[in-house]
Amino acid sequence: MEKLDIEKLVADAEQCVRCGLCLSVCPTYRDYQTEIQSPRGRVLLYADHAQGLVDDPLKVLEAAFDCLECRACQTVCPNGVKPGEAAVDAKVTLQEGRPKSFAVRAALTIFHYPILIDMANLALVAYQRSGLQWLLRKTRLLEKVGLGKLQFAESLLPGRRIKPAMRLFYPRRVEPPRGEPKGTVAFFLGCVMNLVFSESSTAAVEVIRRSGWRVVIPRETTCCGAPHIEEGDWYGYEKLAKKNLDYYGRLEVDYILTDCAACGAELKGYVKHFADDPVYGSLAERVAAKTRMFSEFVDAEGLPGSARFPFATTHQHACHACHAQGVKEQPDRVLSFATDYHPLEGNTDCCGSAGVYNLTHTEESMRILQRKMENVAKTGAEVLTVENPGCLLQLDLGARRYGPPVRVRHIAEVVLEAMERAETESAD
Ligand code: SF4
Ligand code: SF4
Repeated sequence: MEKLDIEKLVADAEQCVRCGLCLSVCPTYRDYQTEIQSPRGRVLLYADHAQGLVDDPLKVLEAAFDCLECRACQTVCPNGVKPGEAAVDAKVTLQEGRPKSFAVRAALTIFHYPILIDMANLALVAYQRSGLQWLLRKTRLLEKVGLGKLQFAESLLPGRRIKPAMRLFYPRRVEPPRGEPKGTVAFFLGCVMNLVFSESSTAAVEVIRRSGWRVVIPRETTCCGAPHIEEGDWYGYEKLAKKNLDYYGRLEVDYILTDCAACGAELKGYVKHFADDPVYGSLAERVAAKTRMFSEFVDAEGLPGSARFPFATTHQHACHACHAQGVKEQPDRVLSFATDYHPLEGNTDCCGSAGVYNLTHTEESMRILQRKMENVAKTGAEVLTVENPGCLLQLDLGARRYGPPVRVRHIAEVVLEAMERAETESAD
């Protein structure tokens, strides 16, 4: 693990020529206009800390947690400075041995046990269908009894009905391909996708199957570890990453497909953390080489000639897709082909979700979200797509809170509907 390594950090800080190109894309600098809330300011602070020049390490930790880790700065930096990744390293190093709150420990523990995710999903289904959600939203009871943060967290649940988790109710472990099989794809069941957006994952599997690929849906999948490393929990991350590497690194499939940008970034990013490991280093390379985002895969495959979705769409690029994996043109191309596509101004700017940033920095996050929704309104789109569960939750809240009243959907659902319409038309 590359933690706050003094040589690397000093070298990184020395690469920074203070050109300021990163300032215009950094959401916290835009908001505060101060050096400490900027990418170059943070990198210099981490380097100072690594050299023992900072008296209070808590200031460094605070700076790391103020960063959304969106990595927009890394995309534009001409000198390869990596302030977003350095924030993760700073959290891992400085959090080590520090007690975490009960809520954080509980949340991170749940992700170690997929069965708990499935139970939480069933609880959410029951909560919505019993009318309790309607009642709590109508009365704002949680806020009235002093649980404003919980009321806000509740408001992030999507406006539409949550479906039962795919791992529990999806009938088959192997989906047969349509037509002559082109090969086998393993579908990585992401935790939050499974918890809240299982219908999007079902759509992704169906699109791949209809494209001629056999789809395996391994129940052995565990959390990718993103929530853990983003909270500075290296040991939790390492345990989960090794479980996935042990399983997926040895699996005989052509591709590993994910519909979650955060999972995709981790599956491809294990390489960085396990490069020196004699066992997991090569497994991580295998996993990275086979991993594809849903849009990346569909773009390479090509859609049937007449696929068409009848609503005007726009797309927000999840930071973990465009900045962490360089997956940007692919969803643009897929949507331009399959829909009436209206590109969104600032579509690679973070929506303010950023892991749990919207819970820990709610005011800042809502300012970012409001600006995002103003841009969505300018497109005139009826449907807003994205490829990451955190962004789906945040943008759905944005549509309800700030408007416009767009339908927020995973890109897989739109692609599947386009395919289905094309098939119906050709059958008529
Ligand atoms: S873009 Fe890169 S080199 Fe320029 S100020 Fe930002 S971090 Fe430094
Ligand atoms: S990762 Fe995002 S929030 Fe953090 S310094 Fe870079 S641009 Fe700013």
